[in-house]
Amino acid sequence: MSLKKSISSLKLPHYKSTAGMAPVRIPIPKEVLLPVSPMNSHSATNAEPVVQVGDHVTVGQLIAREKDRGSAHIHASVSGTVKAIENYTAAGKKALAIRIESDGKMEKCPDLKIPQPTNLDEFLQCVRDSGAVGLGGAAYPVWAKLSAAQKSHIQTVLINGAECEPFITCDHRVMLEYGDLIQKGIELLKQFLGSEEFIIGIEKNKPDAIEQLTERFKDDPAVKVLPLSSVYPQGAKQVLLYNATGKVVEKGQRMASLGVIIINVYSLVKMAEYFVTGMPMVERIVTVEGSAVKEPKNLIVPIGVTVRDLVEACGGLKEEPAKIIFGGAMMGKTQDSLDNVLLKATNAVVLMNRKDTEKTAPSPCIHCGRCVAVCPLGLNPAAFSRAMELEDEDKKAAILQKEQVRVCMECGCCSYVCPAHRPLAETNNKAIGFIRNWEKAHKEGGK
Ligand code: SF4
Ligand code: SF4
Repeated sequence: MSLKKSISSLKLPHYKSTAGMAPVRIPIPKEVLLPVSPMNSHSATNAEPVVQVGDHVTVGQLIAREKDRGSAHIHASVSGTVKAIENYTAAGKKALAIRIESDGKMEKCPDLKIPQPTNLDEFLQCVRDSGAVGLGGAAYPVWAKLSAAQKSHIQTVLINGAECEPFITCDHRVMLEYGDLIQKGIELLKQFLGSEEFIIGIEKNKPDAIEQLTERFKDDPAVKVLPLSSVYPQGAKQVLLYNATGKVVEKGQRMASLGVIIINVYSLVKMAEYFVTGMPMVERIVTVEGSAVKEPKNLIVPIGVTVRDLVEACGGLKEEPAKIIFGGAMMGKTQDSLDNVLLKATNAVVLMNRKDTEKTAPSPCIHCGRCVAVCPLGLNPAAFSRAMELEDEDKKAAILQKEQVRVCMECGCCSYVCPAHRPLAETNNKAIGFIRNWEKAHKEGGK
């Protein structure tokens, strides 16, 4: 992979109108629906339900046990009664989900205890128990990422507070309001991972967060607050790694082998919160934004509430949304209903009106090269697009492999700059799916 020396070519409008809004807690919902899978494309293993219909549950009680690195423990986010364990489908993804009818009490699970680990293995087990997942989008269990420390010395921890996507201000608010938990998280990683350097990367469009955290860590030489230019995709792990350390992960290489891990700032906070309160991950801050919402806000919500609940807490809709996105406008996932539920990794819900979603029809490629020039990873999205038009699957696979389509992080920069309005990132997503299946089939077939 050849990372470009400069990624300053793509400056996006920020649309971060909620940056100055402290998060507010929504009223206790009538019910929640908790999928037992992270429901993203990379890790979709179902956790195993450990409750039955009719059971009374309390906040923080384990209701589904993780099975492997592709899943995480799920805990009740309200107290009440398990009404159903049912199939849930949202935006083309399926998972088993546990429906809990709230008793309106938010009664805390009496078995919760503040964890007291004494070594790395016990610490990782506690992080595992917390149910914390990567909140930068990938939803990969935090313990699994930190377990890299069992094999390699993690000298540097990069704390990702870039939040480069338009609309989202959740991590910005976290950095302003949970500095004590960021500090606690760093202390834990110092103690159990033995890391010596902590770099908190924050885009310069959050000067208050940069100032507060610089002040907080001014006497700790191990912690550096690094202001980053406000360019997209500054928060992508390959880009952040390069801009913060000058290092590049080559294809097939693990970042930990460079002595570095990247953790999202809110993931660090959620992990630390468990060691302070004993409460696993049952709620989160989410930014609710977009032209279809009356009063955009940052909200504190139990996991498993519906988009409809969030909209209600924001004064309702100005008009029916033409598009609902979980995440930002560039890398977020389009949702198909106001009844879809908030997942652990949903940092924003963007509801757009029809005018904002009008698209110009794509036209043939004019070979201008802008998509290649803008790609932070030096990929050739026009070549992926041409390959995907081929009928011969083996030829298609050969080109996609040669052009390293699987390296694509689906940041959307190429689509954004294409003068022919070609849906390049969408095609890349399909191409990655194709090559994954093709490689699996050829491995299984022994070819
Ligand atoms: S989405 Fe486009 S710009 Fe982004 S990494 Fe993939 S090919 Fe490059
Ligand atoms: S930016 Fe669009 S028009 Fe230009 S080379 Fe890429 S795909 Fe073709």
